[in-house]
Amino acid sequence: MSVAPSTLGAQPVGGAARVAEGVWQVKLPVPFPLGFVSVYLVAGDDGWTVIDAGYDYPPAREAWEAGARAAGCDLSRDVSKVVVTHFHPDHIGAARWLQEVSAAPVFMMEQEIPFARGLWGSPDAEPFVAMLVRHGMPRDMAEDAAGVMRAGLPLAEEISPLSPGEKVPMGEGAARVVHAPGHADHQLVLHDEARGILYAADHLMLGITPNVGVWPESEPHPLSRYLGSLHEMRDLRADLVLPGHGPVFHDLAGRAAEITAHHAERLGAMRAAVEAEPRTAYEVSRMLFRGALTRQQRSFALAETLAHLDQLVLEGRVGAREGGVVTYEAA
Ligand SMILES: [Zn+2]
Repeated sequence: MSVAPSTLGAQPVGGAARVAEGVWQVKLPVPFPLGFVSVYLVAGDDGWTVIDAGYDYPPAREAWEAGARAAGCDLSRDVSKVVVTHFHPDHIGAARWLQEVSAAPVFMMEQEIPFARGLWGSPDAEPFVAMLVRHGMPRDMAEDAAGVMRAGLPLAEEISPLSPGEKVPMGEGAARVVHAPGHADHQLVLHDEARGILYAADHLMLGITPNVGVWPESEPHPLSRYLGSLHEMRDLRADLVLPGHGPVFHDLAGRAAEITAHHAERLGAMRAAVEAEPRTAYEVSRMLFRGALTRQQRSFALAETLAHLDQLVLEGRVGAREGGVVTYEAA
C-alpha cells in the first residue's frame, strides 16, 4: 500500500486552492521539468505569512498576483512576513521581488543566510567542476553543467534569521521551525502542531524523492543526516503535509517509511554496481540513472550517487580509493 495523494490542492499549475482553514496553496510555474513549486499563504490577524517565494520570472509573478488575489491577499499591503525554506532558486528566487512589492521581512534559517549570499552573490563554478571531474565526469560536460548551476542570483536585500525550535506566529497560532537537512544543509520545515500541518518544503514529497547530494560546499554525510531527520519526523503530529513540489498528502509517517525504504534499495543497487569491479561515482551514476539526461541532470545524478556511496562507505559496505579520480569498490 503506497501513500495516496490528497484530494486537496488539485488545481492546475498557475492556480490557487484553499487547503485548510486560512491556508492557500499557489502552484507557481518553474522553467524546468519539475513543473511547479508550491508556495503557501497563511492568513493571520497581523497579515499573511508567505511560505517560499518561487522562481523569479514573469509567469511566476503573474501566478503570484492571481493566486494572492484569489486568497484575498493584497501583496502590496497584507503580507506580514515571507519565510524561505532553503536556498534553491525555485524557493528563494522571487523573495527579492516579494520584498520589494510587500515591504515584508524575509526569514531563513540562520546559517542559510550567509551560505546563500556567498553562493549566489559571488558564484564560482571551479570547485564544482573540480568535484565532478574528480569523480569521473568528463571535463567539458562538468564545465557546462557547473556554469549553468553556479550563475548569480539577486537576493532579498534584508534577510532575518530563524533558529531551530523557534515559534513563528502564523494565523491564530504559531508554527515551530524544524531543521530538515539533507536536500539542503540548512533547510527548514514548519510544524503547526495545533492544526496538525507540516509545511514540508523539499524534505518530504509524494511521487518524487528530494535530491540528496554531495556538493562541493556540503557538510559531510548528507544522506545520513537526511535519513536521521526523516526518522525523527515520523513522530510529528501532522495529518496534512504541504510540500514544495508534487501532491499534498496526509500520511506523514507512511511517506517517511517509503522514502527510507527507497534509499535502502538505492544503497543496495549502488553496492551491487561496484561488486564486480571498482568504478567511479560517475560510472555508477550512468548505471543507476539511465536514459537521456541533460548535463545539468547528469550532475544532479552524480551528486546523488556520491551521497549514496558516501553512506555506503560510512556503513563499511564500500571502500573509496583516492587518486586523481576516486574509485569505489565493495568492502
Ligand atoms: Zn530544493
